[in-house]
Amino acid sequence: EFPVPSDISISSAQSPKPIKMLAEELGLASNEYELYGHNKAKINLSVLERLRARKNGKYIVVTSINPTPLGEGKSTTTVGIAQALGAHLGKIAFACIRQPSQGPIFGIKGGAAGGGYSQALFNRLCPPVKGVRSFAPVMLKRLKKLGIDKTNPDDLTPEEINKFVRLDIDPNTITWQRIMDTNDRFLRRITIGRCETEQGQTRETGFDISPASECMAVLALSTSLADMRERLGRMVVAASKTGDAITADDLGVGGALTVLMKDAIKPNLMQTLEGTPVFVHAGPFANIAHGNSSILADKIALKLAGAECDGEGNVIEGEGGKYGYVVTESGFGADMGMEKFFNIKCRVSDLIPDAVVVVSTVRALKMHGGGPTVTPGKPLHEAYFSENLELLKEGCANLVKHIQNAKKYGLPVIVAINKFTTDTEAELSLIREISLEAGATDAVPTAHWELGGAGAVELGKAIVKATEDETEKREFKFLYEVEKPIAEKIETIAKEMYGADGIELNELSKAKIELYTRQGFANLPICMAKTHLSLSHDPTRKGVPKGFSVPIRDIKASVGAGFLYPLLGEMQTMPGLPTRPCFFDVDLDPETGRIYGLF
Ligand code: ADP
Repeated sequence: EFPVPSDISISSAQSPKPIKMLAEELGLASNEYELYGHNKAKINLSVLERLRARKNGKYIVVTSINPTPLGEGKSTTTVGIAQALGAHLGKIAFACIRQPSQGPIFGIKGGAAGGGYSQALFNRLCPPVKGVRSFAPVMLKRLKKLGIDKTNPDDLTPEEINKFVRLDIDPNTITWQRIMDTNDRFLRRITIGRCETEQGQTRETGFDISPASECMAVLALSTSLADMRERLGRMVVAASKTGDAITADDLGVGGALTVLMKDAIKPNLMQTLEGTPVFVHAGPFANIAHGNSSILADKIALKLAGAECDGEGNVIEGEGGKYGYVVTESGFGADMGMEKFFNIKCRVSDLIPDAVVVVSTVRALKMHGGGPTVTPGKPLHEAYFSENLELLKEGCANLVKHIQNAKKYGLPVIVAINKFTTDTEAELSLIREISLEAGATDAVPTAHWELGGAGAVELGKAIVKATEDETEKREFKFLYEVEKPIAEKIETIAKEMYGADGIELNELSKAKIELYTRQGFANLPICMAKTHLSLSHDPTRKGVPKGFSVPIRDIKASVGAGFLYPLLGEMQTMPGLPTRPCFFDVDLDPETGRIYGLF
């Protein structure tokens, strides 16, 4: 028996095929992709138009139980399933994952591109930035509203410019912070405008990390370039002194922002260790944002993995008429990522998934059953390495609740039991038995971390069976209607997903509900900002907490992205670095250019 080498040793031992070759294998025309070096390509959105007549491939969402702080292998399983389907079961299969942020890569979390023998061969992308100068139609509309009937920026008089740029902003209502993509705890709170030229415009503000920016959530939820333009323009950044919402378009920056992001909107094609396609696109936070990769990546993948149809819309016979698979990951546990996947992402995309995969591990379930605390950077307690069926059985309650939650959306649920080398047969069988009793369509131990796609073949087959089974009942439904009052939507999520008795709104939250209702934002879906470590708002409460009410401390709005986000606890939007950050390990050999320490 050989131990599995480190993630970086495995990925750097691979020689990936040129990405151009993968693009050709997928049937992309040469004008449908732009190469960014040898290992990645950006896919033009025009491919959606060309493949419009195809029936979408099967759409699988990967979620998990409430994890330990170490993560239970959602990304690894997403990639593992795609490798199994794509490299071992003869299907076209895409993995769609989020783009890791530089901050956590250098801090604690690492690359989030899978692990072991189930990884995306990863390299960060920086789309080029080019400037453009002209009034777009959206700006023309705004100028018209102000009584200015001009199309050329050069024709504006100083009075008109003043009308245009001097907004009656109440500085106390500015919700926007500055953004960067590295961890820097000292920038959480800063004072700006201290130079005397700023004429006393001193203000307290701070920095967020880029995944916490609303622009990232907009990127992930946009369905086209036009849609992204609209969303960026409607982002609310402050209120006027009379209480009206001030948007990015009011500031005149909506168009420029879209130009900055015009290449970012094109999904990034990469490959797994086994040469199967991966889209790595967008990386919104999973608490204050919805934590899912982009709608456009999923849509393009679903067409590329789709079935060819004849003129009448009937799937054709033969190879081209076969359905492929798209395996997309939703961040954090099912109470957060999956709930937001359905109620926010699917509501915008109009896509209906064919199955839900819930990743679980013996380790996390033992923790839910009362096992010792799991702390990153500290050795795991012995309880996690030896068989303990009682602890595991107790902890399975957490998995059962997530299966029940997933079933509320009317889709088949498959449990992926992500195997660690220390798990025993009896432990794996127990999880399977309990999952089936709880109504899972199937529950399959999977060893893709250790063996790559070959280790996930049984899981892949279970997914194929569940999605092709016409007798399996599928009645997809949302958890709530967006037209319901804000408090009612929040309460539905708290009761149905977390098992809470109800919610407690403080005065601030009540005031925000009134404000958003007055401003016309009451019909947005809800994006709960909660800990992922518990079904409740309290990270220390494991298993299935009972007899609790969820306190809502504040409610914020991402109007451009299109959701309201209630805060259930202190949410950190600018991570700090640990005493021993991951960047200690990162270096490069100047002779060969080989990189060390990135995983
Ligand atoms: P998540 O997406 O749930 O946060 P990841 O897929 O990123 O989790 O995995 C977290 C870490 O655990 C990674 O370093 C990965 O290599 C490791 N890991 C995942 N599955 C296994 C496994 N079955 N055995 C050992 N390590 C694993």
